[in-house]
Amino acid sequence: LDANRTFLAWTGHSREKLLGTDVVALMSRADGVLYASHAVPQLAVSGSFNELAADLVSAAGEPIPVLLSGLRSASGNDDAAVDRIAVFSASRRREHERELVAALRKAEAAETARAAAEEELREKHRVLEEKDRVLNTSLAASREHEALLDTVLNAVDVGLLVVDGKGGVVLANAHLKAAWNRVAGDVSPSGERPIFGPDRVTPVSDSESPMRRAAAGESFSNQLLWFGSSTGGQQIALSVSARPIKTDGVFSGSVIAYNDVSPLVYALAAQEEFVGNVSHELRTPLTSIMGYLDLALDEEGLSPAVASVLNVALRNAERLLALISDLLSVASGNKKIDRRPVNLAEIVRSGAVSMAPKAHAGRVEMVTDIPESLTAEVDPHRLAEVVDNLLSNAVKYSPDGGTVRVHLCKDGQEIRLRVSDTGIGMDEAEQGKVFTKFFRAHRAVTSAVPGVGLGLVITKSIVEAHGGTLSFVSSPGQGSVFTVSLPLPAEGSTG
Ligand code: ADP
Repeated sequence: LDANRTFLAWTGHSREKLLGTDVVALMSRADGVLYASHAVPQLAVSGSFNELAADLVSAAGEPIPVLLSGLRSASGNDDAAVDRIAVFSASRRREHERELVAALRKAEAAETARAAAEEELREKHRVLEEKDRVLNTSLAASREHEALLDTVLNAVDVGLLVVDGKGGVVLANAHLKAAWNRVAGDVSPSGERPIFGPDRVTPVSDSESPMRRAAAGESFSNQLLWFGSSTGGQQIALSVSARPIKTDGVFSGSVIAYNDVSPLVYALAAQEEFVGNVSHELRTPLTSIMGYLDLALDEEGLSPAVASVLNVALRNAERLLALISDLLSVASGNKKIDRRPVNLAEIVRSGAVSMAPKAHAGRVEMVTDIPESLTAEVDPHRLAEVVDNLLSNAVKYSPDGGTVRVHLCKDGQEIRLRVSDTGIGMDEAEQGKVFTKFFRAHRAVTSAVPGVGLGLVITKSIVEAHGGTLSFVSSPGQGSVFTVSLPLPAEGSTG
């Protein structure tokens, strides 16, 4: 209906244009909707509205921030009612509002950042707590390991020494300290002390000392050494082994194990001394028996039956003497070889012939594959022993009968003698011990097969003294094959 001058000045509208225009049309679209939905109903219901924030649109199309308050003149008749709308400039207030909103946003952002930082802190705290827990667990586990290691180290019957990469002692177990105290008084295991080689008197050179070898990162097993003074006091024999410790593939020290083998070494020495003494004592009366048998056989007019019986007795006495010589040679480690060119084929053949009656008695078929003649430069007596031992084992370890094959041949640069049987054979554990003095397999003992467990030790030493090798394959219940390989002298050599 009308507008005052201030309004016209603010908005730039002319009165003429304004008259008849809807108030809503003077506002931005959104504020028009706000006015229609809030102010108009309030005017109708309560006859007024207060401070509605809106943007008027100037004649130039610019928004003018204002606050609108309205009052309907009371007339009782809506059609005749007149609404007076007061328009207050709200530019400053808007600015304040904007500042306030900006400040609020800032505060909100700060709060969000603070919350995030707090959460991050909490997370870090959680991680730290977790690390602490893991550390505590591994600390407890390592304490447990340490206690276990300590117990194991001190429980084992072996002296253990751990050295670092420079040879400094890191750890020595109780057993090692006790062993040291026995031989060298109260000396720490790292101190200098006398160490001797297997002969008990030759000092071990610096480079051969187990500590030096271990500190150099060497891995070795069963180095036999004597510890303690060679002139007086007690010496102990130690078998020393070492293994390097590698941390991430880099050598960082060594573990050295000292095994006290003195009782074993002393027992072996006593055993050899006993065997030597007994053999020596047996040889004297036996030599005398053989002398008297020779004398008896030289007697004129002996009946063939008596002569044959005396010959059997003489042969057996000779065998016995040979066995005693073996015992002596095993005890002294003396393997004298007297080589000369002989027909080895003949030695093997006569070995097989002498074994024939025993094989026949044991229902063992003997199959031979021996050339007419095969000359070799060997000790005939010692080689005959080899043949006898192998054939006698093949026959006696075939208690249920079977077949023994003897094969002799020249193969390239070597002579090969193979004795195979279809007898009881040996399991893996037994195979590992056949060349040990006095070893006899359990079945050999329980089935009362005669023997002392020296045959193969002697056989092997004879073969090796000839520069050859003795090897075998065996399987329980299937049989065994023993092979002797002797090198032939090079062509043109006089041997
Ligand atoms: P001995 O025969 O006097 O017991 P050896 O040194 O000849 O001693 O043999 C050692 C052990 O090896 C025997 O006791 C036996 O258990 C085993 N052995 C040797 N030869 C054979 C074989 N041909 N078959 C099965 N076992 C064998």
